[in-house]
Amino acid sequence: MAIYIFFWRIQNTMTMISVQEAQKIILDLVTSLQETETIDLDQATGRILAETVTGDLDFPYWDNSAMDGYGVRFEDVNEGNTNQPISLKIVAEIPAGIKPEISIQSGEACRIFTGAMLPDGVDTIIMQENTQQQGKQVLVLSSPKYCGEFVRKKGNFYQAGEILLSAGTKINEPEMAILATAQCSKVTVYRRPRVAILSTGNELITTTQKLEPGQIIDSNQYALKAFILKNGGIPISLGIVEDEPNLIKEKIIEAINCADFVLSTGGVSVGDYDYIDQILEELGGKISISSVAMKPGKPLTVAKFDNGCVYFGLPGNPVSALVGCWRLVKLALYKLSGIKGDYKPQLITVKSNHDLSSQGKRETYIWGQLKLVNGEYLFILAKGQQNSANLINLGFTNALAILPIGVTKIKQGETVTVLMLCN
Ligand code: AMP
Ligand code: MG
Repeated sequence: MAIYIFFWRIQNTMTMISVQEAQKIILDLVTSLQETETIDLDQATGRILAETVTGDLDFPYWDNSAMDGYGVRFEDVNEGNTNQPISLKIVAEIPAGIKPEISIQSGEACRIFTGAMLPDGVDTIIMQENTQQQGKQVLVLSSPKYCGEFVRKKGNFYQAGEILLSAGTKINEPEMAILATAQCSKVTVYRRPRVAILSTGNELITTTQKLEPGQIIDSNQYALKAFILKNGGIPISLGIVEDEPNLIKEKIIEAINCADFVLSTGGVSVGDYDYIDQILEELGGKISISSVAMKPGKPLTVAKFDNGCVYFGLPGNPVSALVGCWRLVKLALYKLSGIKGDYKPQLITVKSNHDLSSQGKRETYIWGQLKLVNGEYLFILAKGQQNSANLINLGFTNALAILPIGVTKIKQGETVTVLMLCN
């Protein structure tokens, strides 16, 4: 087996490509999901709309008051002021939720509350603070600035039949409010992407097994599951598989038949136990990437199968695996999920609070935090060793500083491009 793999490697040496090329290749491999499901609105947070939504009601639904105050006819109060207040007769009281049955005539006003529907004849609201009630009369102490002041006009924000939300929109808090107000109690969304996760390595044990000398606890399974859940997918945990080609093959067959994407960790480097690439090819996968000029995360295999499944073979080191997800898998998952957009990484330029260094040969990621200091974001380096096996100081990471190829140093106080990891 070892000799066979040695020759397979020589034949299959693919060149290392840039992160930008890898990004493009990966996005080209991914086709957005088409299958939809119709779900209750209250289950729709984080889901992606699969249909364009239009409302059949104007918004506001009818003219209503933006203030607690008095409904008046503008022409009656146009010329009032504190020295010569205008007195109007209060002929009705209109709370929110009631259809007014009255028409306000010249010289009259109605008491009205925020959100209440305007009666006929009223075109302007005088806020309570600018009035004084005297029995059945109200004194208008200062005239409105214009006809229509403090009136929310029917259809002013939205007119029935216009597009409310387009297909491909992610449903967050504002979209929830919009869909609710359009009385979409059910919504049609794309089904969630299914992503199989498997960890390869003879040394791996689960979180509940007793650690024996030489073993390593499979943290990647959990980290990747969290990554998938956070990004709207359904993780399918396939557990640990030993570095045994037949077992790996069986697991990969299971994975590509149950998922849209597969994320495996380990076994894609150049060690004697790294079988993934060879097995993917044996199973008919077309490998488009086998190595990316990034640090950490260089050994990265991406392959596509005829059933559409895209396989990401990530390196085993915990930081490398997550960096690969954040930098390359994330946008692929966005595209798969049906979100409309240009699938660009969330990069911002901020000041670095530390000296940052790289060997300059590969695009280098340095983990840490974006912190708001006096209204300005700063990149704060994670304390402890920047080592791809150090998953401990990865805690609280919400950003990766990026040092492009050729850049070996960024000094404290200089600007650095940072990949934001918050959604
Ligand atoms: P590999 O990419 O298989 O050569 O693994 C590189 C390093 O990552 C080794 O030190 C592994 O023990 C470690 N590693 C591999 N898989 C995992 C995992 N699932 N969880 C934590 N560490 C892992
Ligand atoms: Mg391994």
